[in-house]
Amino acid sequence: MTRRVLLASPRGCCAGVDRAIAAVEEALEQYGPPVYVRREIVHNKYVVQTLQNKGAIFVDETDKVPEGNIVIFSAHGVAPTVHEQAAQRGLATIDATCPLVTKVHKEAVRYAQQDYDILLIGHKGHEEVIGTSGEAPQHIQLVDGPDDVHNVRVRDPEKVVWLSQTTLSVDETMETVRALKDRYPHLLSPPSDDICYATQNRQQAVKQIGAEADLVLVVGSRNSSNCRRLVEVALAAGARDARLTDCAEDIDDAWLKDVTTIGVTSGASVPDILVQDVLTWLAQHGWEDVETVTAATESIAFSPPKELRQNLRAKTEHPDE
Ligand code: SF4
Repeated sequence: MTRRVLLASPRGCCAGVDRAIAAVEEALEQYGPPVYVRREIVHNKYVVQTLQNKGAIFVDETDKVPEGNIVIFSAHGVAPTVHEQAAQRGLATIDATCPLVTKVHKEAVRYAQQDYDILLIGHKGHEEVIGTSGEAPQHIQLVDGPDDVHNVRVRDPEKVVWLSQTTLSVDETMETVRALKDRYPHLLSPPSDDICYATQNRQQAVKQIGAEADLVLVVGSRNSSNCRRLVEVALAAGARDARLTDCAEDIDDAWLKDVTTIGVTSGASVPDILVQDVLTWLAQHGWEDVETVTAATESIAFSPPKELRQNLRAKTEHPDE
């Protein structure tokens, strides 16, 4: 049979990631290095290394940023306490939280004000979940998948709402919601999808290529939630094998044994140059025939963080002005 590659579309960087990367680049341009970034701006090795080479310094917490400097918050969002800690240290901040994550934060605040118990479906320890939970820690409890539903305890079963992390598997989340509804028939749903358009579209595209592929290569980093979900969705769609690879050099020849059709996609934090490298590598190994499989078209773009329009250096030098 003819060897072929099915290339998923859409794939790769979403509007939130593009905005976050551009925010770091713009801050470096406006203020010169170093510019500090709390945590990985997006979960991708290549992006982080490229920005480090340009003068970004990545830190775990704001207490590692020398006083009077600029710190950027990542696309995953932060809890209000992180903003407070930065203010206490006199840091100027640029908030690159994706607007679709901010939307979930606002929902959490609103339901907490209405005294709901909020069941946040998401992955324990993920930065986005920590940030969202921090908006209303007294009201939010995490539900890490359908198997975690039996651990949920609420004060009033008639006043419960679910929200979710933006990068989950759509199908698994619906399974969790069904299990929650079995326990709490009055469970309220969020006014619109929390799982973002980019996650949904990339999962839809990988489902289409997964159904026909012997192997699906998902370009992306291991700590990226949406990339790991793409591997799971590809396997659930029927792919015989699916692998996460940071770049072309990480592909193992053994994965290609008895493979004819290879699906290729990438997560929402992955620049397309890495996918092009993988396609070049595959062409060199006999997979030259590339067919694009389009599940959706995207035209969303977000405006830059508002802080980039202010003179932040002046602010740190004259904090009271
Ligand atoms: Fe925003 Fe979705 Fe991209 Fe996350 S994956 S940065 S929520 S658009």
